[in-house]
Amino acid sequence: MKKLLVVMAVCCSVCAIAFGKPAFYAQGSGDKKIVALSFDDGPGPYTARVLAILKEHAVQATFFMEGQQAQSRPQFVAAVKDGGHEIGNHTYSHINYYAYKKQDKEQVLTREILQAEQAIMRTTGVKPHLLRMPNGYSKGWARELVAQQGYEMVNWSFGCDWKKIPAAELYAVYAKNIHPGAIFLMHDGGKNRQTTVDMLPKLIDEIKRQGYDIVTVGQLLGI
Ligand SMILES: [Zn+2]
Repeated sequence: MKKLLVVMAVCCSVCAIAFGKPAFYAQGSGDKKIVALSFDDGPGPYTARVLAILKEHAVQATFFMEGQQAQSRPQFVAAVKDGGHEIGNHTYSHINYYAYKKQDKEQVLTREILQAEQAIMRTTGVKPHLLRMPNGYSKGWARELVAQQGYEMVNWSFGCDWKKIPAAELYAVYAKNIHPGAIFLMHDGGKNRQTTVDMLPKLIDEIKRQGYDIVTVGQLLGI
């Protein structure tokens, strides 16, 4: 991702670190002991377990939902909302724009954003204001388009739960990346997310043990 950081612009009103123009975010300002947990590609078969863990630990998180998943599992969209969590847009069908070679990519992304928005709003009645692109795609044309659609684009400071490594090792690498303003990427949908579910309670405990507050991505960025 660093290769894509053309301009490092500081700051918005609360000094979250904004990259590029229009800006996208990958972490908070680092001046407070706060971190955010984010879950992508759901709602899916692991969403209920993630929600149960978050509830048990009294933690709020941010769920970047895929529109087609939100459409097929509205009960979990409602459960996320009812749990007091934040919902972001992760586009409708998770197209990999790094590999998308056709000319109509602007139209496709516009449609993907709106379809996901509609699927989420059908249950929540609220338009999300954060958007995470599939695969963390953050090229200029997409940033422009996302901003035009009324969203702030957010990536993450650390995440690797798609790698096939045991839960204990996964926990260790996440724990090593706890720092002020961190945004952790994890997943509650898309594939087998058992290791994520297994390591999540321990990660939350460790974040709290180190004296951090866990907030939503929107709260962390102040947007
Ligand atoms: Zn994704």
